[in-house]
Amino acid sequence: MAQRVAVSDGGGRKTSRVRVAVRLRPYMDKQDEKGEGPCVRGLDSQNLEIINWRNATETVKYHFDAFHGEQTTQQEVFLSSVKPILSHILNGQNASVFAYGPTGAGKTHTMLGSPEQPGVIPRAVREVFNLVKTKDDGWDYSVGMSYLEIYNEKVLDLLSPGSQDLPIREDKDKNILIPGLTETPLSSFSDFDRHFIPASLNRTTASTKLNQRSSRSHAILLIKVVRTQLALPHRQQTGKLYLVDLAGSEDNRRTGNQGIRLKESGAINLSLFTLSKVVDSLNTGVGVRVPYRDSKLTRLLQDSLGGSAHSVMITNIAPEYKYYFDTFSALNFAAKSKLIVNKPFVRETVTVPALQVKRPREDQTGESAAEP
Ligand code: ADP
Ligand code: MG
Repeated sequence: MAQRVAVSDGGGRKTSRVRVAVRLRPYMDKQDEKGEGPCVRGLDSQNLEIINWRNATETVKYHFDAFHGEQTTQQEVFLSSVKPILSHILNGQNASVFAYGPTGAGKTHTMLGSPEQPGVIPRAVREVFNLVKTKDDGWDYSVGMSYLEIYNEKVLDLLSPGSQDLPIREDKDKNILIPGLTETPLSSFSDFDRHFIPASLNRTTASTKLNQRSSRSHAILLIKVVRTQLALPHRQQTGKLYLVDLAGSEDNRRTGNQGIRLKESGAINLSLFTLSKVVDSLNTGVGVRVPYRDSKLTRLLQDSLGGSAHSVMITNIAPEYKYYFDTFSALNFAAKSKLIVNKPFVRETVTVPALQVKRPREDQTGESAAEP
């Protein structure tokens, strides 16, 4: 685990950093019609470099809490970035895991995976049940799940299809809750599978009908662990784990969306933009207001991101040139949150004869390749 650096959230409370990992998916021929090869590559377990298209002799090097290269297995991602935080939710603490990045870079692969290569979600749920089973500490544990989507700044219950926009509330202890959200009790992993798989299929079906909705909405799985003291006074504690497959981080304005889709892009940008500001404020620290209330996503996650919560953001990136600008902005988002804490954003001039520098086809102005 990365060192947890405590800072103030402006309200005098201690907040902690969001751990940032980057996962590079394998290069795919079919994503590279011109056969240009990859434009980004890993250096070691914490560093990667991307070609600087503005200057053929340079690459831009980034440092993160963890870098997972293309050979990294689902198990390795889980063990290094997710498993370490799970024990906390059995102690009444909150945690969140996000997959961030452009559409096609591997967010759903990382979070959900496939039956052959299960991702973070099934592994985390299995592990929670393992932890609960081995507990013999005078507390009774119960596990429940909720599954929701934030789409166009609306909160929708995926376990109750057809439901309306749900409100987000805060109780007197600053716990965030959604009255009316379905909460399904789970007694085993197979119980989870039984409820989750149909709900995630629902979402996929809807997505083909509604313009790749899945790349435009945030899918949020909540695993809640409530423990009750067996002896008097039967104290009760709740730990929450949010597992989030975020909307695609690509800039939809570039692809010429209009009408409803443009409106969607705006809303997605608001939530992701606010998330980036929240992560940035948490990781930068002292005296900065954390703007949780500026979007539904961050408001919902307020009690599980920063503060005493344990948070990990897995930024997914793709190596092909067609993703260059989306990769670049995703890395800058992820690295920016590291910059001030650790001076991780190192610019280096490296000659890389093996990597031929080519200008990406997209015409893009206004982004400087070497500034955060
Ligand atoms: P996203 O959810 O970010 O849009 P996906 O998870 O759907 O992206 O990934 C896009 C494609 O790449 C899928 O076919 C997926 O199976 C594949 N893929 C993504 N990451 C990996 C990986 N680490 N190893 C193998 N295939 C991957
Ligand atoms: Mg996806």
